[in-house]
Amino acid sequence: MSASFDVRQHLETRELCAFRAEVRDFIRSNLPDEIRAKVAEERMDLTREDMQRWHKILQSKGWGCPSWPVAHGGTGWSDEQSYIFEREIALADAPRPMVFGTGMLGPTAIEYGTEEQKERILPGIASGDVVWCQGFSEPNSGSDLASLQTRAVRDGERYVVNGSKIWTSDGHFADRMFGLFRTDSSGRKQQGITFLTLDMKVPGITVTPIITFDGGHEVNQVFFEDVEVPVEDRLGEEHDGWKLAKYLLGMERFGTAEVSRSMASCKRLRELACRIPAGEGMLIDDRDFARRMAEAETELRALELTEMRFLFGPGGADALGAEASMLKVRGTEVQHLLLELAMEAVAHHARVDVGDLEENAGCPAGPGEARYVSRAYFNFRKTAIYSGSNEIQKNIIAKAVLGL
Ligand SMILES: Cc1cc2nc3c(=O)[nH]c(=O)nc-3n(C[C@H](O)[C@H](O)[C@H](O)COP(=O)(O)OP(=O)(O)OC[C@H]3O[C@@H](n4cnc5c(N)ncnc54)[C@H](O)[C@@H]3O)c2cc1C
Repeated sequence: MSASFDVRQHLETRELCAFRAEVRDFIRSNLPDEIRAKVAEERMDLTREDMQRWHKILQSKGWGCPSWPVAHGGTGWSDEQSYIFEREIALADAPRPMVFGTGMLGPTAIEYGTEEQKERILPGIASGDVVWCQGFSEPNSGSDLASLQTRAVRDGERYVVNGSKIWTSDGHFADRMFGLFRTDSSGRKQQGITFLTLDMKVPGITVTPIITFDGGHEVNQVFFEDVEVPVEDRLGEEHDGWKLAKYLLGMERFGTAEVSRSMASCKRLRELACRIPAGEGMLIDDRDFARRMAEAETELRALELTEMRFLFGPGGADALGAEASMLKVRGTEVQHLLLELAMEAVAHHARVDVGDLEENAGCPAGPGEARYVSRAYFNFRKTAIYSGSNEIQKNIIAKAVLGL
């Protein structure tokens, strides 16, 4: 590949332009207004029903699990098509996919599951009927995930699980969980971990909400007391779950750069600044704000081009190593920068009281979006923590790139 390879031109072939138009038309004609409005306001209260509804609409077109192999109902799209699809979804203010099923468990089951397990697991994800959550983190095991202690003791044809998982997103409405459980403590901590899938409605499971600083309920603590899991619900070999976890987490880290989402946020921020009066004109005319807005847009453009270079450069996305860590760190920093500017834009109208939005919906001050800005600002602190915290990603970069 020559040094002058133009990644943007690469995405502007006649076929890809036609594909982009098809995706754009489909979303425009099929995305329900009330769901689009929630995403456009960066509201954090998309419900299970909202997510399932949108997934089923995409699936009616065969686009519900686009990255899966064609044999399992995927699209067989090129990297370029997948990239364009993700971009159009974000720019149209459509919800993200139900990532725990389509982006994590599905690909892991395809890679490591038996034929019988694939037949049992994949159709529910593809149809959107079965909602999954991820049970990896524990109260004392986050960054150092391999130290996890929730035990699964083998008893004939079942495991008996005791312990607790924490920060379980969607655990309060998920049908099933995939997770990592300790089945042996005698060797290195990465050994003796087993990957199990389980029914969230069986006796012995208690889900306790964790209300985050923005007032939202998306994460939970899940307690297990003598929970029985059939052996056939184990993915991969007993004690060999770390291998599956590494495979699954590799996919998770890349998605969190969220460049397309930031492009949508940036566009909204510029529109917002054009509507807010400031001095004699509008906020966007304020020299200081306009300068910082331009700096943020430049950072975002640089990130976009870096992502394209990584994805479509030599080796493509399959060759991504520490590059995924760089994208994750920069991607979350740009998200935060945009939200800081949004907070500044709505100024005193930003809600410091992040209580019930519906209850307070009748008395918003200032531009309508102001009601949601502070909530999104506080909520998005999470992106520097989950999917491997930014400090951990920097450790990876220091080791793999800088050789420190
Ligand atoms: C909103 C949200 C949703 C989540 N959803 C899920 C989910 O669905 N399922 C799930 O399993 N988990 C989930 N998580 C958990 C997430 O993966 C962990 O929070 C994350 O891995 C960090 O672990 P921890 O919270 O235990 O922090 P710790 O690992 O205790 O880290 C605390 C601080 O120390 C720093 N630190 C730790 N080790 C090092 C080191 N070696 N070098 C430098 N700095 C270090 C970290 O960067 C962090 O700043 C979620 C978290 C959040 C915030």
